[in-house]
Amino acid sequence: MNFHVLTLFPEMILDGMHTSIIGRAMEKDLLTIEAVNIRDFAFNKHQKVDDYPYGGGAGMLMQAEPVYLAWESVASKLAARPRTVYLTPQGKVFDQKMAVELAQEEDLIFLCGHYEGIDERVLEEVVTDPVSIGDYVLTGGELPAMVMMDAISRMVPGVLTNAASGESESFSENLLEYPQYSRPEVWHERAVPPVLLSGHHENVDKWRREQSVIRTAMYRPDLLGKAKLSPKEWQLVHELKKKTVTEKESETEQLQKAISGQEEKDENI
Ligand code: SAM
Repeated sequence: MNFHVLTLFPEMILDGMHTSIIGRAMEKDLLTIEAVNIRDFAFNKHQKVDDYPYGGGAGMLMQAEPVYLAWESVASKLAARPRTVYLTPQGKVFDQKMAVELAQEEDLIFLCGHYEGIDERVLEEVVTDPVSIGDYVLTGGELPAMVMMDAISRMVPGVLTNAASGESESFSENLLEYPQYSRPEVWHERAVPPVLLSGHHENVDKWRREQSVIRTAMYRPDLLGKAKLSPKEWQLVHELKKKTVTEKESETEQLQKAISGQEEKDENI
């Protein structure tokens, strides 16, 4: 997998990506990361790449030509027209499914915006995938590009030393991962669930699957609609829902009692 990042801050990309698992994958030639400085393609002596937006409005825009030339400098070296991701809060929201899909590509270009963004005409010409990393606005596309490259890299064969760990992780089957524990067996009076010490692999797998379903139902119920659950697991989800509703009702009752008690006290003052 070869990542090509078009950016005004190449050092940010290179410094940020050369560590830990991704750094080791680069040393093993499983990944390459090239950071292309868009400023090198400016057509004025001050290497200025931004200008005022037509029609007025706040901020500056990155101009079309330097961005296009930077893109072309990469695309012209490749055999096929590369998929080009523009990092933008207006794009499709990045998720694990997209990471798995993009990991199939040989080359990926990431275009990082800055200021108020980039002249629309060059985006129309080169971008294949506008992608957002969430509903908030950052100052530039560099952090989103690094987030995406990190998640995609983990899906490239050989990058994770234990291939199975990528398969059982959160979101892999639209379920969150089960809780995990390491030594010691008891920490701050909290013991590791006994089943994990039993050495009975089938029971461990069963417990983990159940915990995944419970976690997802508690924290990300929106994922359950896409997960493949057995009738017994759906039953578990319904029971959890009933329990939560009952707990909420009892909390509301307690709150109501506390309010009434306070009101009585106020009246007696
Ligand atoms: N004016 C733009 C808008 O309202 O859509 C926002 C521009 S933002 C200040 C500057 C750059 O940061 C964008 O061009 C994009 O590359 C990047 N960026 C900001 N938020 C992002 C997000 N949530 N996901 C991906 N990229 C983002």
